[in-house]
Amino acid sequence: MSRIAYVNGRYVPHRQATVSIEDRGLQFADGVYEVTAVRSGQLIDETPHLERLKYSLSELRIAMPLALGALRFVQREIIARNRIADGIVYIQVTRGAARRDHPFPAGASPTLIVTGRNSKPNAAQADSGIAVITVPDIRWQRCDIKSVGLLANVLAKQAAREAGAWEAWFIDREGYITEGSSTNVWMVSQDGELVTRQADHSILNGITRRTIQRLCGDLQLRLVERPISVSEIAQAREAFVTSATSFVMPVVKLNGHELSDGVPGALARRLRAEYLRLADRPKAASRR
Ligand code: PMP
Repeated sequence: MSRIAYVNGRYVPHRQATVSIEDRGLQFADGVYEVTAVRSGQLIDETPHLERLKYSLSELRIAMPLALGALRFVQREIIARNRIADGIVYIQVTRGAARRDHPFPAGASPTLIVTGRNSKPNAAQADSGIAVITVPDIRWQRCDIKSVGLLANVLAKQAAREAGAWEAWFIDREGYITEGSSTNVWMVSQDGELVTRQADHSILNGITRRTIQRLCGDLQLRLVERPISVSEIAQAREAFVTSATSFVMPVVKLNGHELSDGVPGALARRLRAEYLRLADRPKAASRR
């Protein structure tokens, strides 16, 4: 079965799906994206992902290419046409195609790409936990915008792979962790507080992060938003990362040293189970 993509109003096989060589996404990384997980054919947290897409676009003054309702429809078509059970839907919007020149072009209309694919479950990885390394945060100062300009993230993830790790955490100039190359970072401190960095311009405010925060409220867990230093997390009871694709992923190794005795922490495991329970709830009962 050939994979089907949606590009600017048409559903086309991947091999025939094209954009202009002068698309500003290609020329300037002048665009944004969203990745939403699909579980048993259902999107997880669809509405907040679309809301964040709207936010990223408005920060860059790119017009929303379709009404939200139409975008929801396209996502469902991509799930159906690609027979996605467990996987992701990817949306990318760029400022469009125009003769290469830095200022916003007059009259270009946004490029919209929607793709999807099945992906392997990550339960085994969650059972064993992942290794992470740290790298300097060399990114720009608007990491709250989900820009397709991901070069620093690509280099960080590659550095992790080459070190035999799964994720790389970015470290700011003060020695605090901002976030992972594609995840938000959490710890359970020595005194039992659940800690994650505050959402400002230094991190992407993860949709999974927000859902977990809500869950913490429901479960009456003590949650604090503040920066976490590398030395503090090295001593933490537990650490984990969150994202649409990893859900809640326990961390058991940091820069080659064991974290949380080398096994996934109890709270990380519990939050992962609760998160998946919430995701599996019938959608009619919860229009999230
Ligand atoms: N930070 C970065 C840099 C990311 O790329 C991602 C993944 N999109 C996240 C955090 C987690 O965000 P979410 O929970 O919305 O997937």
